[in-house]
Amino acid sequence: MARRRDLARAHRAFRNLLFKKKHLTSSAPILQVVFDTPMRQGFDYLPAAGAPPPGPGQRVRVPFGRRRAIGIVAAHAESSALPRARLKQVTQSIDTAPLWDEATFGVLRWAADYYHHPLGDVLFGALPKRLREGAAASREEIVWRLSAAGHAGIAAGARLGSRQRALVALVGEDGEVLAAITAAGHAAELRALAARGWLESFARSAPPPPAGAGRPGPVLTADQGAAVAAVGASLGRFAAFLLHGVTGSGKTEVYLRLIERVLATGRGALVLVPEIALTPQLVARFRERLAAPVVALHSSLADGARLEAWRAASSGSAPVVIGTRSAVFTPMPALGLVVVDEEHDASYKQQEGFRYSGRDLALMRAQRAGVPAVLGSATPSFESLANAAAGRYAKLSLPERTGRAGKPRVTVIDLRVNTARDGLSPPAMAAIERHLADRGQVLVFLNRRGYAPTMYCTGCGWMAPCKACDARLTVHLARARLVCHHCGAEEALPFACPQCGNELAPVGEGTERVETTLKQLFPGAPLVRIDRDVIRRRGDLEEALGSVADGRARILLGTQMLTKGHDFPDVTLVVVLAADQGLFGADFRAGERLAQQIVQVAGRAGRGDRPGEVLIQTSYPEHPLLTSLITRGYEGFAALALEERRAAGWPPYAHLALLRADAPARADVYEFLEAAGAATPDARRSRVRILGPAPAALARRAGRHRAQLLVESPARGALQAFLATWVGAIAALKPPRALRWSLDVDPSEVD
Ligand code: ADP
Ligand code: ZN
Ligand code: ZN
Repeated sequence: MARRRDLARAHRAFRNLLFKKKHLTSSAPILQVVFDTPMRQGFDYLPAAGAPPPGPGQRVRVPFGRRRAIGIVAAHAESSALPRARLKQVTQSIDTAPLWDEATFGVLRWAADYYHHPLGDVLFGALPKRLREGAAASREEIVWRLSAAGHAGIAAGARLGSRQRALVALVGEDGEVLAAITAAGHAAELRALAARGWLESFARSAPPPPAGAGRPGPVLTADQGAAVAAVGASLGRFAAFLLHGVTGSGKTEVYLRLIERVLATGRGALVLVPEIALTPQLVARFRERLAAPVVALHSSLADGARLEAWRAASSGSAPVVIGTRSAVFTPMPALGLVVVDEEHDASYKQQEGFRYSGRDLALMRAQRAGVPAVLGSATPSFESLANAAAGRYAKLSLPERTGRAGKPRVTVIDLRVNTARDGLSPPAMAAIERHLADRGQVLVFLNRRGYAPTMYCTGCGWMAPCKACDARLTVHLARARLVCHHCGAEEALPFACPQCGNELAPVGEGTERVETTLKQLFPGAPLVRIDRDVIRRRGDLEEALGSVADGRARILLGTQMLTKGHDFPDVTLVVVLAADQGLFGADFRAGERLAQQIVQVAGRAGRGDRPGEVLIQTSYPEHPLLTSLITRGYEGFAALALEERRAAGWPPYAHLALLRADAPARADVYEFLEAAGAATPDARRSRVRILGPAPAALARRAGRHRAQLLVESPARGALQAFLATWVGAIAALKPPRALRWSLDVDPSEVD
């Protein structure tokens, strides 16, 4: 309970601070306004005279320096550090109601506090671009058009001032102009032309998005039924569930059944998924099954479509929202259920700017809205398993695959005795041949793009380095380029060693090289490769997946793009080529990630009457990570790994924050971090330890040196109390302009 208690306490303290009871005064409230900037402080304004004061969560236009800016009212206050007479007035209220429902606005405020990130950046970052720019938040908009009198007047050549003429041109002869334009500086002309009867207004509302087909689902298995019943019994109050089910065990069916029940009560559901672009069929499945409008929110939406989806969600006209991590901030008036699919996925963590965990905030959102949250995964994060073990989450299991043969057989291939040729060991080649001959499909997994990870000189040992990073360039043979996978720098493939003129050889293998090998070995088996180098445009993935689904492709080769969401029913063999990459990662989560990758990719194989086979190539077959994963299974492995983390004081048994800094000059970075480390308010008393500065795993990237301080505490509350004062001290340090720093609370990687 500790974590939730801590969160609840932090939340109460924060709310008391915000809504501190104050004696009533007759004067207008002072508006604390935040802006679309990473500035930490807000600014105080007065409401426009005679107008009702805009409430928290509403957008306003205000004078800001020499220009006007759009801000969001964060809170009302009674007093300001400035005398009232010096406060400027709001120029215009954009919204008549808050942009977010109360629970969601509460989550945003809480998140700014918890992640110690400027509230303005948090609030604006949660909005579609069009809303940041001032578009109307409601689907119902006041629209202006030229009246009959206006048309007649123009036809008659009536005289207009230049500003009025500009507005008429904007409206156009047959066109319409949205109310938002009034805000863009045409208010006076609009009023004048309306008074003259030239312009008339009307309300326009967009039609609701189409409802799904409402097709019935299959009869649930006993395990699915139990899961639906357990969550269903908690509708109407907060409860957290961990739904652990292997790929294809019917988790999505459980979500759908629960959403149907929620819809029947007049409420809606928020479903978070890691990457919609990789799972286009998921949204289609929701639309087909549910008899209610479903909107999808993800990064590849155009601005207009995103705004429409947001409006449909916030008005309640689309009660089901499927989205990637930032969709957790979508207002929904009658939320009834929160689902986080593949909750272990690293993409729930935003790694730049406002660094938050969409998964964790989804739980907070469910808690605030008083609705259940379901976290589903075939490979739950170790945190979630620990939460389930501690009784914070109720655990639901779907151990069986629906309509499938048993678990795949997993075998380790020792690369020390089975020398690989271009990445493939003889036993792996033999297995591929066997499965192809049996009309099975084969999936080959290698989490490395390109032809080879290094270009090596056979004469002097030179290895093509990136000039801007502490990293080697990856060989991309088909494009004849050397590419840095960290900063994107490219150069032409050299013919000879620039140092000694000797011959160069690509060393190691990526998917491009393995593709060549597989095509040579199995010329009769059509191959599709799936990685970011070949899947570039919308439609590429559908095309590739289509050829797998209809059986044209016999061999499927790819990176972790393959491990996400898709099901390959006819795949009978999975080969994991280079498990070793993950065995020795410096990060405390490296083992967890590797286990998840192996289990996820293995879970794509075998169904129907044909059991799957999984081969893992490694030079370290006795590595405890691999042996425990194979002998004890994912949960057994997790239990062991969690014991190790407890002993070593890693999350979830410790709470971390990372202060990262980077700059072109190495000395600047370390000077800043030393100063930050010294600017600590009595760290010992608050049970907080600071480690570092230490170089980042990639100590130089894109010409910038990178280092960090790690802050750790056994108690989340202590860490939070410390960070709250520390972040102010850091902000006051005034480092050189070229230095960038960021605070990452609950970082997903620490090396
Ligand atoms: P997951 O989300 O765990 O990968 P899905 O819900 O997508 O699993 O189910 C996998 C496949 O099994 C899908 O094709 C789905 O339609 C089917 N399925 C799910 N539940 C059942 C059931 N109770 N009876 C028959 N088929 C089912
Ligand atoms: Zn050389
Ligand atoms: Zn680079």
